[in-house]
Amino acid sequence: MPRLIPLAEIVSSGLCIGCGLCKSIAPTSIEIRMTDTGGERPVERAPLPDEALSLINEVCPGLRVELGPTDAPVDPMWGPVLRLARGYSAEPAVRFRAATGGVLSGLGRYVLETRRVERVLHVAPKADDPLYWGAHVSMTPDDIMTGSGSRYGPAAALTPLMELIEQGLPLAVVAKPCDAAAVRNLIAARPDTGDVVRYLLVMACGGASRMTKNWRLLDEFGVHRADVAALQHRGHGNPGPIRVVTDDGREFATTYLAMWADEGTWDLQWRCKVCPDGMGEVADLVALDCWPGGVPVGEDGGFNGIVARTAAGAELLAAAVADGALVLTHDELPIDETLEDWQPHQSRRKTAVASRLRAMAAAGLPEMATTGLRLDAAEKRLSAQERAEEYAGALERIRRGVDGEPYSDASGTAPE
Ligand SMILES: Cc1cc2nc3c(=O)[nH]c(=O)nc-3n(C[C@H](O)[C@H](O)[C@H](O)COP(=O)(O)OP(=O)(O)OC[C@H]3O[C@@H](n4cnc5c(N)ncnc54)[C@H](O)[C@@H]3O)c2cc1C
Ligand code: SF4
Ligand code: SF4
Repeated sequence: MPRLIPLAEIVSSGLCIGCGLCKSIAPTSIEIRMTDTGGERPVERAPLPDEALSLINEVCPGLRVELGPTDAPVDPMWGPVLRLARGYSAEPAVRFRAATGGVLSGLGRYVLETRRVERVLHVAPKADDPLYWGAHVSMTPDDIMTGSGSRYGPAAALTPLMELIEQGLPLAVVAKPCDAAAVRNLIAARPDTGDVVRYLLVMACGGASRMTKNWRLLDEFGVHRADVAALQHRGHGNPGPIRVVTDDGREFATTYLAMWADEGTWDLQWRCKVCPDGMGEVADLVALDCWPGGVPVGEDGGFNGIVARTAAGAELLAAAVADGALVLTHDELPIDETLEDWQPHQSRRKTAVASRLRAMAAAGLPEMATTGLRLDAAEKRLSAQERAEEYAGALERIRRGVDGEPYSDASGTAPE
C-alpha cells in the first residue's frame, strides 16, 4: 500500500492550492487559514483519522489530477473538445458585470432557472471580510451575481462540498480547474458523488496569485486591509478595472494590464507553476478569455471562448444557446490554432510541467499523478536544452525553498 502523505507534507511541498476539500472531508480536524505568505492552507487542529487522510490522499488536487476515459476527440495539447465556440451571456447586465462575457454567471443562472440543479457552489466575497473570498452556495439566479468576476487570489471553493453532497440536491460547481480536479477525484473515489454533482464548470486558469499580490496593491493605494469594503478584479467591462472601495467610500483603481505588467510581482503559488491542467480538461465546460495573442488591447463588450468537454457540457451549452441564455458569435472553431492564439501561456506552461515535476521528484517531494494529461507529449515541443533549463530552474527554486510552503506559518509546528 502506498504511504499516506500527511497534510503537512502536501502543504510544505508546495502542492496545496487551498481548494478546501480536505476541510470539507474532516471539518472538525482541519481549519483553513491564511498564511503570512498569502496562501490559504489547511492546518490540523485535531488528530486526523487515517480514514480521512486516506480519502484526502485520493482526492487532493495537489496529489492527483487525472483525465478519465472520454468519448470526446482529444487534442494532444488542449485535451477533450466536443465543441469550441465564442460567445457571451445574452443578459447585458450579466455580461457587463462578469469577468469576461458572463458565460459562467450566465450558465450558473441558467441551471438554476431551468431547475437542472438546486444549488450552485462557487465563490464570493466573505460576508465578514470582503477583502477575502470563500465558498458560496447560490440558490437563486440573482445570488449568482455576488460571485461574478475573477478573483486573482486564494479562494477555498470546496469547503461545503461534502455537506452539499450528503444533502443530495442536484449541484453545479463553478470554480478553477484544480477545484474541478478535486471534485473529479472525489467522484472517482465515491461514485455516488456523481449523482449529485451535475455540472463542473470552470474558467481557464493561468495561476492564482498569493494574497501578497493584493496586499501590496492596497499598500500602493494607502488602504488598510481592515478598511476594504470591496476588492473587484475584472468585470464592469472586459477586462474592466481592478478596483478597491473602502468602508468610507474612497475608490482606487488600476488596469488589468498594469496589474500584470511585471511577472516578477505575480506571486503565483508553486502549485500553479506545476499545474498540469490550467485549461480545465477534467471539467464539463470551460469559459475563457479570447483576446487574439492572449492580451487585451482595450476594453470590449465581453466575449468568452467556450470549450464543451463532455456530453453534459455540450448538452448544457446547446440548451443555453437554444433557450437564449447565451449568444454565440463563432462556432465549431478549429482547436489548436484558436486556443494557441487565445491562450499561448497555457501551452507554454504545459510544455514545462513534466520537467518541473521531475525536479520535484528528484528533490524527494511527493509526486502528483497526472494520468491522461499527456505531459510527456507536451514536453516534446521543447528542445533538450529547454527541458534541461526548466528542470534546473525548478530544482534550484525548490532547493532555495522560495516556493515551499513554510508550514510553521500556519500552524506553529514545522513538519518533521
Ligand atoms: C486565478 C484566475 C486565473 C485566470 N487565468 C486565466 C487564463 O489564464 N486564461 C483565461 O482565459 N482566463 C483566465 N481567468 C478567467 C477569466 O478571468 C474569466 O474568469 C473567465 O473568462 C470566465 O469569464 P466569465 O465572464 O464567464 O466569468 P464570470 O461570469 O464573472 O464568472 C466567474 C466565476 O468564477 C468564480 N471564481 C472567480 N474567481 C475564482 C477563484 N479564484 N476560485 C474559484 N472560483 C472563482 C466566480 O465565483 C464566478 O462564479 C482566470 C481567472 C482566475 C480567477
Ligand atoms: S489542495 Fe485542497 S485538498 Fe489538497 S491539501 Fe490543499 S486544501 Fe487540502
Ligand atoms: S493554475 Fe492550476 S493550480 Fe493554479 S489556481 Fe489555476 S487551476 Fe489551480
